[in-house]
Amino acid sequence: MSDTLPAPLGLFGGTFDPVHYGHLRLAEESMTHLGLGGVRWIPAGQPPHRGTPQVTAAQRLEMVGRSTAGNGHFSVDPAEVLADAPSYTVHTLTRLRAELGPAQPLVLLVGADAFAGLPSWHRWQDLLDLTHVAVSHRPGFPIEPHSLPAPLAEAFRQRRLDDVGGLRTAPGGRIVTFAMTQLAISATQIRKLLANGLSARYLLPDDVLDYIQTHSLYRNA
Ligand code: ATP
Repeated sequence: MSDTLPAPLGLFGGTFDPVHYGHLRLAEESMTHLGLGGVRWIPAGQPPHRGTPQVTAAQRLEMVGRSTAGNGHFSVDPAEVLADAPSYTVHTLTRLRAELGPAQPLVLLVGADAFAGLPSWHRWQDLLDLTHVAVSHRPGFPIEPHSLPAPLAEAFRQRRLDDVGGLRTAPGGRIVTFAMTQLAISATQIRKLLANGLSARYLLPDDVLDYIQTHSLYRNA
């Protein structure tokens, strides 16, 4: 395949319940580490892999919008939130492929914990043909093949790319890892702090925290 493809576009899905600095640094550092042209944030509507989020999808979308507004390389895709159906990443990728064309390199950004759970995703093997996957290190979640479910470890061995420059030479199909600043922040931790009336300040942007307080979100565990 030619090496004149456009800069890869990062796709960053998540529940973002709420969005925090772990997410923001992952997106920011992926830009430099992977040479991305931008990152499209895709908040999940009705995530199929977990229980019902504590706030509405529209509120999670609003918080992602607030936290990313100041960054010209970030955009927010509301399609999953607006859709009246469960969010399956493979469907989102099919839609984006149709929108952006067959040559656009796409890079699905995932933390190591999300990557380890990939085999539970709908049509996960098809998904690996539609996009590259970039796995960021996350405290407490190793990425070595021996710690992954066997079919995923096999896919990782077959598709692994050591030189991230290779992301630009094909529209999808490869897996890379990258080391980001390790931040042991999780939305679960933030929800717990807020439910207990404790401070979550400096774990997420002030704008998002203001929104949470104004709308009395996450008051219950
Ligand atoms: P929860 O605690 O509710 O499970 P979370 O903090 O893991 O939420 P998600 O919205 O589920 O946030 O994560 C979206 C993506 O961001 C996933 O791919 C996840 O692995 C990644 N991610 C979240 N927090 C971090 C972090 N601190 N470091 C690296 N990756 C992260």
